[in-house]
Amino acid sequence: MTLRLFNTLSGEMDLLTPADGEMLRMYACGPTVYDFGHIGNFRTFLQVDVLRRFLKLTGTKVRHVMNITDVDDKIIRNATAAGMPIGDYSAGFEQAFFEDLEALRVERPEVMARATEHIPRMVALIQKLAESGAAYQAEDGSWYFRLAAFPEYGKLSKKDLSGMEDGARVDVDEYEKDSARDFALWKAAKPGETSWDTAIGRGRPGWHIECSAMAMEYLGESFDLHAGGEDLIFPHHENEIAQSESVTHKTFARHWMHVRFLLVDGRKMSKSEGNFYTLRDLLLKGYKASAIRLALISVPYRHQFNFTFDGLVEATAAIERLRTFVQRLKAGAFAAGENPALQEAATKAKTEYIAALANDLNTAEARAPIFDLVRAANTALDQGQLLAGDRDAILAVLASFDAVFDVLTDLDADATGRALEWAEKAGRLGEAAPELMARQGLTDETIDALVAERTTAKKQRNFARADQIRNELAEKGVVIEDSKDGVRWKRK
Ligand code: AMP
Ligand code: ZN
Repeated sequence: MTLRLFNTLSGEMDLLTPADGEMLRMYACGPTVYDFGHIGNFRTFLQVDVLRRFLKLTGTKVRHVMNITDVDDKIIRNATAAGMPIGDYSAGFEQAFFEDLEALRVERPEVMARATEHIPRMVALIQKLAESGAAYQAEDGSWYFRLAAFPEYGKLSKKDLSGMEDGARVDVDEYEKDSARDFALWKAAKPGETSWDTAIGRGRPGWHIECSAMAMEYLGESFDLHAGGEDLIFPHHENEIAQSESVTHKTFARHWMHVRFLLVDGRKMSKSEGNFYTLRDLLLKGYKASAIRLALISVPYRHQFNFTFDGLVEATAAIERLRTFVQRLKAGAFAAGENPALQEAATKAKTEYIAALANDLNTAEARAPIFDLVRAANTALDQGQLLAGDRDAILAVLASFDAVFDVLTDLDADATGRALEWAEKAGRLGEAAPELMARQGLTDETIDALVAERTTAKKQRNFARADQIRNELAEKGVVIEDSKDGVRWKRK
């Protein structure tokens, strides 16, 4: 099976094949662990998961490397504000990231690499760039990449750099399209900031060098595929290419995959717009992890994805239909034999499913034949025309569907349970949907009873018990309000 995948570098649909004919070597930019992952981040990680699972399903071995950015401008800013060392600050978010991947059933890459554990490798790369004149040190001790040293700069993003100002510099990790400048490879230490003492001075790495260093460490100087969200095309990936190819004079990654952004109700997701969701927000609202997974992968990666709550409801119903159908097949007793029409429907569904994914990972088109098959099989079941051989053939097709989509096994209660445990520790249980809280045993009736007990305790001047109840409820996100009309309570 050959996968045709759009390649940002060539601008064409190219065949994705391992250069060594055996194992596909791929690198995907990982999270910056300064906060909880949002659904846009997970859309990208999930689409890369679809890619790796499809490669494996069709017989290609995969070596997938993902970095964890655990030092950067945002982490330093937030850790300083929280009065914590950056390692302590980022560790909690890294842990949360792994928990979220598990909830969404994203397969772990073969290698996860933390930036802070690869500083010597980054320093060595900067030294090589300096030797060839592609890197220079500024007055403050920071090191910059000299864009003029790499004439191919812009080949990924297809930017026209003719108006570029030679020698102009930028030292923030993320910057806008119209400001192609010499960018920071290494930032000289500032008072109070985490830094490393190295042969190129005391300081910390820029964001871009980290991915070049770790990709080459684990995949070699030249590898098959590099992936990330579309925002990374410029400057991040353009800079990775410039740094790496200036040292190796080899093609850094042959194939580049970029996932288009997720919007919410047609608008950019942002905290200030109030339309910003982490995975945990959605789990606490009562949506199932499997439905979130299906919704985030069902629109092909090259299309913008418009997230809506209606979409989640649709995904929930679709999964329910599949799971009920599988139960029906597994529980039923079927006569031996095969129904030729169903055998043909199963073969056709499998062929169309694989063909859709092989065509630039078209997940929407891949879903359709599977649901058609389920419809046909349900009808046959109702009419007693489904035989044991059909059951086996259909279950086999569903297994290959699930090798990529992974929504049939119901592990949703585990994911939601873990989110509730987290919310309780984080004092955010008040955000949980009432039906989830009810599942936790904190029904309206329970709260009413506790509030009444507190009122009695107060009357009996047992203030210790009264306070204990108030605190207990507060921990679970319930606030008690005493007023002259009596006691009221509400969920935060
Ligand atoms: P970050 O943690 O910000 O470095 O992002 C991790 C990954 O999520 C990167 O591949 C980004 O390109 C991707 N990403 C960020 N925002 C979105 C979004 N709204 N939609 C899709 N992918 C995104
Ligand atoms: Zn990267």
